[in-house]
Amino acid sequence: MPAVEVDSGSRRSMGTFARIVAVTSSPKRSKRCIEAGFNEFRRIEDMLSYFKPDSELSRVNREAYDKPVKVSRELFEILQTSVTYSRLSNGAFDITIGPLADLWRKAGEVNQMPDENALAAAKSRVGYEKLILDVNTMTVRFAVEGMRIDLGGIAKGYAVDRAVEIMKRKGATGGMVDLGGNIRCFGKPPRKDAWLVGMQDPNLENSQPMMILKLSPDKPDMAVATSGDYRRYVEAGGQKVSHIIVPSIGSGANKMAGDTIIAPTAIEADALSTAVNVLGPEKGLELIERFLDAEAILITFTPEYRIIKSSGADMYIQ
Ligand code: ADP
Ligand code: MG
Repeated sequence: MPAVEVDSGSRRSMGTFARIVAVTSSPKRSKRCIEAGFNEFRRIEDMLSYFKPDSELSRVNREAYDKPVKVSRELFEILQTSVTYSRLSNGAFDITIGPLADLWRKAGEVNQMPDENALAAAKSRVGYEKLILDVNTMTVRFAVEGMRIDLGGIAKGYAVDRAVEIMKRKGATGGMVDLGGNIRCFGKPPRKDAWLVGMQDPNLENSQPMMILKLSPDKPDMAVATSGDYRRYVEAGGQKVSHIIVPSIGSGANKMAGDTIIAPTAIEADALSTAVNVLGPEKGLELIERFLDAEAILITFTPEYRIIKSSGADMYIQ
C-alpha cells in the first residue's frame, strides 16, 4: 500500500479564514499541494477583488459603461455562470448588486439608513439584464451608468473549486479546502470513511456545532456553503442589515437566520446559498429541489431557529 501523508495549513485569504488539508503519498507533496492551493486563492483575489483597483474586475467596473471591455476567458466564464444563476433564481442572485452593496456599506459606516433617493438611484443601476456579455468578442458592457459587478457571492466558491483542481493535479488523493465556510472535499479522508463538516450554530454563544455533515464516500467530491447574516451585517440607524441584499427591494435579506447548501461544486453551493438566503425558506427550497444533486438545510428566524431540510438532505447529516 502506498504511504498516506496528511498535512494541513491555515491562513487568512480573500478577506476571510482559509484552511487546506491535503492527503498525498509524501510529506513534501502534501506541503506543495497546500502551498499551491493558497497561491491559487491569491491569484483569484487579484483577478476578482472589488476593492483592489488593479484587479481585472475593477477595470471592468471603471470602463464598461464607456466601452465594451475585453476580459480574460476565465473572468468571462465566471460572469456567464453568475448570470445563469441569476436566471435560475429569478434574479435573487445578482452580481450587479455593487451599487446597493456600496450604499449599505456606507450606511453602516455612518450608522444611518440611506435616504430614499439614494436607494432608488442605486436600485436603478442594479440588474443582470443590464449586463451585456458578448461571447464572440469576449467583452463586457454596462447598459446603465454607475453599474458595478460585485462577485462576493460566488468568488470564494470558485476559488475553492480551482484550488481543489490544482491539488488533484499535483498528486493529492484526497483533501478538504475551506475558504470562509465555502468547503469542498475530495477523495478519501485519512483514517475515516467520510469527510465531516461541522455546521455552526447561528446562536454564536453555542460553540458546539449544530449539526455534523458527512460528505459520503460514494460521492466524495462534494461542497458545502453557508450564507447567513449572523456573522456579517452592518448596523444602519440602529438596525442590523444583512450583507446579502434582495435585489428587487434593495435592502438586506431578512427571511432566514442562515442556510447551508450541499452541491457537487463549491461555486454552485456558494451561488445557491446566497440565492436561497434572498428567496427565503419557501421559494428557496423550491429552487433547490429543481437541482437533482443539491440539498439545503435552512434555519429560520421564527419560531426560534427552526430547521427545514430539502428532500435528500438527511443522507448528508450524521
Ligand atoms: P459570505 O460572503 O458571507 O460567505 P455570500 O456567499 O452569501 O456570503 O456572499 C455575500 C456577498 O455577496 C456580499 O458581501 C456581496 O458582496 C454579495 N451579494 C450580496 N447580495 C447579493 C445577491 N443578491 N446576489 C449576489 N451577490 C450578492
Ligand atoms: Mg454565496
